[in-house]
Amino acid sequence: MTNSTDDSSKLIPRIDRHAHLEGSLSQSWVRERVDSVPDSLEALWRGEALPFTSFIDSFLFVADLMNSSSATRSAVNSAVSRLPQTGDSPAGIDLWCSPLFLVVERKLLTLDELWKGIEQGISDASAQGVNIRVILDAVNHFGPANGHALLDLVANDLPSFVIGFSTGGLEGVPFKEWAPVFDRARGLGLRCAAHAGENGPASNIVEAIEEAKVTRIVHAVRAAEHPSVLEFLAEKEIPVDVCITSNYALVPELTHHPLKVFMDAGIRCALGTDDPGIIHTDLATEWHRATDLLQGNVAYLERLVENSIRDTWCLPD
Ligand SMILES: [Zn+2]
Repeated sequence: MTNSTDDSSKLIPRIDRHAHLEGSLSQSWVRERVDSVPDSLEALWRGEALPFTSFIDSFLFVADLMNSSSATRSAVNSAVSRLPQTGDSPAGIDLWCSPLFLVVERKLLTLDELWKGIEQGISDASAQGVNIRVILDAVNHFGPANGHALLDLVANDLPSFVIGFSTGGLEGVPFKEWAPVFDRARGLGLRCAAHAGENGPASNIVEAIEEAKVTRIVHAVRAAEHPSVLEFLAEKEIPVDVCITSNYALVPELTHHPLKVFMDAGIRCALGTDDPGIIHTDLATEWHRATDLLQGNVAYLERLVENSIRDTWCLPD
């Protein structure tokens, strides 16, 4: 039975379960600092769907502006500003970050400057009652060496706010090859997640869980037409971070988001914004899109809020 709610403001998550630091800078902040932006970024800001490779171009352009502690702090502040400002539920962000790209590959700032900016942003957020924890993001298509280099960079000075390790980017390298990197991350006390089933096949989701032993999946949209993968995610009780606006933008063949299919299957979904400074959205927008997809089903919406709290990594245990 489908119920509807006429007061959804009481029922809204205040935890952004998946946001990238580099994709969180606001449009106005970016425009103030550059003469022009790439066509692909303008298109994404207008809400157009683009191939994933075009998104990466825009991501790199914006990330190149993260060249100081101050810019880093601004990105964290912008991520916090995209949370619903009212509501009783706990507030927080699971914030993905790519130190290897920023510090080593682009040499935009030092690791100390990066950590300092994030720490300042976390402190600002804490003053507003918002909890933030950081998940390191390695690039799948660059292969396991990229993951090892990331861990080499941070292993000797891992701030307490860094709680997880993940792969992102194009799902080009099998998770079996990534397994030793995930083992090493776990050895450092990090929880493990993976972007999977976004630009790669649904089988990547199963491989990430079985081969790399990740305990959390980001996106998983390509599981929708694979009942065995849906069952697998539900049976294993794997939390899935769902980013509706991002999925429509970066999975161009996606005509109807499978959130309801996921919920019908019993998967533990929660909502995230992904790269809201690039693919324009905020958590309230994701909530309204989810409400539409779930046809206002209150039981499902309540479950989304419960999952956002239960499975997040940013709240104290
Ligand atoms: Zn992501």
